[in-house]
Amino acid sequence: MGEITEDRWAAATGALRTAVAAGDPILLVCHVNPDGDALGSMLAVGQALRKLGATKVQATYPGPSALPEPFLVLPGLDLLVDSPEAPVLMVTLDAAAESRLGAYASLLGEVPTIVLDHHASYTGFGDIPLVDSGAAATAVVAAELISRLGVPLDLQIAECLYIGVITDTGSFKYALTTPEVHRLAADLLETGLDPGEISSRVFDTRPFGAVKLYGEVLSRAVLEPENRLVWSAASLADLERHGQAPYVLEGLIDGIRCAAEADVACLLKQVGPAEWSVSMRSRGGVDLSRVAVALGGGGHRAAAGFTGYGTPAEIMDRIRIALGE
Ligand code: 5GP
Ligand code: MN
Repeated sequence: MGEITEDRWAAATGALRTAVAAGDPILLVCHVNPDGDALGSMLAVGQALRKLGATKVQATYPGPSALPEPFLVLPGLDLLVDSPEAPVLMVTLDAAAESRLGAYASLLGEVPTIVLDHHASYTGFGDIPLVDSGAAATAVVAAELISRLGVPLDLQIAECLYIGVITDTGSFKYALTTPEVHRLAADLLETGLDPGEISSRVFDTRPFGAVKLYGEVLSRAVLEPENRLVWSAASLADLERHGQAPYVLEGLIDGIRCAAEADVACLLKQVGPAEWSVSMRSRGGVDLSRVAVALGGGGHRAAAGFTGYGTPAEIMDRIRIALGE
């Protein structure tokens, strides 16, 4: 937690304790289209605040309304609401830019806001930033906050934090998998959680139709050796043909980025007639946070994304230009 000062921690824990003691509504908001880190961190903090005595803590995200199936058995889902009551204190999780909060961004400036995040591209919104770009996951920051609030880990909180950690470290593979991350994982396992079952459920259980879809998207991948680039695209028609929900495409970038001839991999996932959610990965040499910010998104050096408009060919042209700048 090198980047977060003691003053910041004290301000955040103080604001939370005051709100809990007063019985004030506290709203937790994570980023649109939540992944395991966003949702896991949010539900962990929500359950910890309840254990601290909070009676009015609610959690939400800007959409889409249906959660990916692997998340439907997460502990703390009863914290989630579609229309939260007006909060006195807000906590945002895993969102590096106001745009990632959708309509909830309008509360910024009106409601004191604690920001829990770990993105290099964090834009500086909110009042009390608990943001450490050296943290492997927002869940790592959330675990520290929960510890500083004096709430002991239980099985439910630990499962949520664990899902955040394994999502954002690629199950302890990526560069920010520090000794601290492994020590946190050890603390989480001490609560008795079952890492094999959680991994299997969250990452390794998909409908057979998803397997066939992966085959098609991978077989269409294009390698551009001169640009050290590999990419593919999955359309809404592809999803429909195989009867699959968009969430099954999370993680498919891993199947593309292993191409040895490329330093950068992209997967374009269609979300509207001319709208694509773009996932980018690098081997570390290319700073994709910079590239993604230039294209209207954000992320980390080795993993970043943005929303692209037009055709896949047009979006790839923009990526090649941004990579060259
Ligand atoms: P993924 O490819 O797994 O969806 O996202 C990789 C990283 O890029 C994550 O840290 C995520 O927060 C960030 N990211 C993905 N899409 C967007 C986007 O549209 N806007 C911003 N600001 N960040 C994004
Ligand atoms: Mn994250």
